[in-house]
Amino acid sequence: MRIILVGPPGAGKGTQAARLVDSYNIPHISTGDMLRAAVAAKTELGKQADECMSRGDLVPDGLVIAMTVERLGQPDCARGFMLDGFPRTRAQAFALTDALEKAAIVLDAVVLIEVPDDQIVGRIVGRRSDPETGKIYHLSFQPPPPEIVDRLVQRKDDTEDACRARLAKYHAETAPIVDYYAEQGRLKRVDGVGSADEVELRIKAALA
Ligand code: ADP
Ligand code: ADP
Repeated sequence: MRIILVGPPGAGKGTQAARLVDSYNIPHISTGDMLRAAVAAKTELGKQADECMSRGDLVPDGLVIAMTVERLGQPDCARGFMLDGFPRTRAQAFALTDALEKAAIVLDAVVLIEVPDDQIVGRIVGRRSDPETGKIYHLSFQPPPPEIVDRLVQRKDDTEDACRARLAKYHAETAPIVDYYAEQGRLKRVDGVGSADEVELRIKAALA
């Protein structure tokens, strides 16, 4: 399976990707996770990405495209992949099409998880993750077990201001690529409102 997950910040891409990669036995490739790892490791890429990410801006296309194309060329992607958070701009979508064509790889589907804007900020500011397992929780909607609450961390870009900036970027830069994939007949629209279990079932039905 070669799948792209698209959706606004907080739509549930990471939550659903973690569930789906187990079912389909493919690697989860999250450009946000890769960039956060680069920032933590203080690599050259991390230093260049850090400020953009904190502001809620996109990291420049050239950097993200090179990072993602390199990752997709690794051996574990030969059996498929679930791309989460890439492409986010038209330039990224075109670069991905080129890279896949060169490798004679065909995408199975682009899944758009739709969540209305008025639910996004609440999802983002309540998001926490467990640094030990990488699991994503929400203080109200997906409450963590009480014994791990103290070790949970909040992303520094999960403030209301940075979230609104990311949402504006999503509508300006990422929403247009949805049309690009719809024109290719690859787009599956999935309602992202409801429990994570319900959304997972909808995605699996769309992919079946
Ligand atoms: P994304 O990767 O699209 O930014 P996440 O998967 O990190 O989104 O989810 C954002 C926040 O919303 C997290 O705190 C997560 O626990 C919560 N969440 C995920 N799916 C749902 C859902 N179906 N209903 C309510 N909250 C959800
Ligand atoms: P969210 O969970 O809110 O959808 P991500 O974890 O996917 O956010 O991304 C966090 C940040 O990393 C983005 O706000 C952006 O700065 C950067 N980023 C991630 N993926 C990309 C990409 N494909 N292009 C440009 N910037 C990206």
